[in-house]
Amino acid sequence: MPLAHPKVGFVSLGCPKALVDSERILTQLKVEGYEIVPSYDAADVVVVNTCGFIDSAVAESLDAIGEAMAENGKVIVTGCLGKRPEQIREAHPGVLAISGPQDYASVMRAVHAALPPRHDPFLDLVPRRSNEADTDAVGVKLTPKHYAYLKISEGCNHRCSFCIIPSMRGDLVSRPVDQVLREAEKLVMGGVKELLVISQDTSAYGVDLKYAEREWRGRAYATRMKALCEGLGELGVWTRLHYVYPYPHVDDVVPLMAEGRLLPYLDIPFQHASPRILRLMKRPGAVDKVLERIRRWREICPEIAIRSTFIVGFPGETDAEFEELLDFLDEAQLDRVGAFAYSPVEGASANALPDPVPEAVKQERLARFMERQAEISAAKLEAKVGTVQRCLVDAIDGELALARSRFDAPEIDGLVQIQNGFEAGLRPGEFVDVEIMGSDEHDLYGEVAFDD
Ligand code: SF4
Repeated sequence: MPLAHPKVGFVSLGCPKALVDSERILTQLKVEGYEIVPSYDAADVVVVNTCGFIDSAVAESLDAIGEAMAENGKVIVTGCLGKRPEQIREAHPGVLAISGPQDYASVMRAVHAALPPRHDPFLDLVPRRSNEADTDAVGVKLTPKHYAYLKISEGCNHRCSFCIIPSMRGDLVSRPVDQVLREAEKLVMGGVKELLVISQDTSAYGVDLKYAEREWRGRAYATRMKALCEGLGELGVWTRLHYVYPYPHVDDVVPLMAEGRLLPYLDIPFQHASPRILRLMKRPGAVDKVLERIRRWREICPEIAIRSTFIVGFPGETDAEFEELLDFLDEAQLDRVGAFAYSPVEGASANALPDPVPEAVKQERLARFMERQAEISAAKLEAKVGTVQRCLVDAIDGELALARSRFDAPEIDGLVQIQNGFEAGLRPGEFVDVEIMGSDEHDLYGEVAFDD
């Protein structure tokens, strides 16, 4: 009679980067013959992958640990909050082990100690990696099967004053380009149609490795954003760049977008547009150059969609500086924009800055900012009415197929709602040409474009 598989419960909290960590750990558990179970009752041990980015995420993570302790009692904690073990031990002294983000080896050691893997001659045939933290196997996907996050580096060399990621995750550590390309290749072989490149700072990719050259498919590639994009462009699926820092060499990848080798999409957080506020944020302050660069990108690739995020109500932000930000929106005509009212994060150096903006003023500025951008986004989407757009179907919902065009990232941007999607027999993960017939400030509406 076959032996029962040791069973692990898994709770995954946090951002897409934490999700990638969860996928890696789940992959390794599966490779070693553990069964992943969906309830505390059925689990022999529970792993909680936590987030510690803002205070509400810390509270949510501590609650999740508490629930796992109460329901199961054998709990291993990993992820961002693991960087503050004393805080976890104070609330939940009984947890079995604590490790930080990306520390797959420690998680696996803790799981082995609590629940030794079962010897299985069939599973033992699965090739083992020499370094567990260096996995490049196809992951067990928590995201829908047809898109996958591809994490190219960890940590960040910048020190933006509102952010504590460098103190939690350390300086930039890039994965060698051949390893990333092999992982991407396997994901595509496993059915992935869209790769979402993520990191804390995608444009800095490889600087820590001095842009080391590696070989993939018989060709040399530098560990550098442009070469990585060229390699990914060989895979014949959609590749989308996230978290690109506004360095000049971002210009290098825009021609690849114009050639169709990379999606014409840049997620590039600008954060503000007043040079003084940007200096206080410890970010590049040459706003004229940013606008000039955006103009150049659009010359090279006229259809490029630019997504950005901004912080309003940063300490010391005056009415005039906020107006500068609104003027920037008018000039830059960005496609998609997210914004946050500044909120102090424990440990961030910006908390020591003078002249905090009152909460009511922050909220009022946030509302004005979003209203201004909504008009811009709506006009940008309206301009697509009457065109035919290549879309990737995410889900079927009644009569509708919910899809995304090349200009929409999953979770953060809008959708293309295909009115006759069910009737047309569409399925998630399928590409389809859609005739765009309507728009609002978030979404596009259309029908499958049938050839005559
Ligand atoms: S670039 Fe991003 S991750 Fe790095 S310090 Fe700035 S906000 Fe934080």
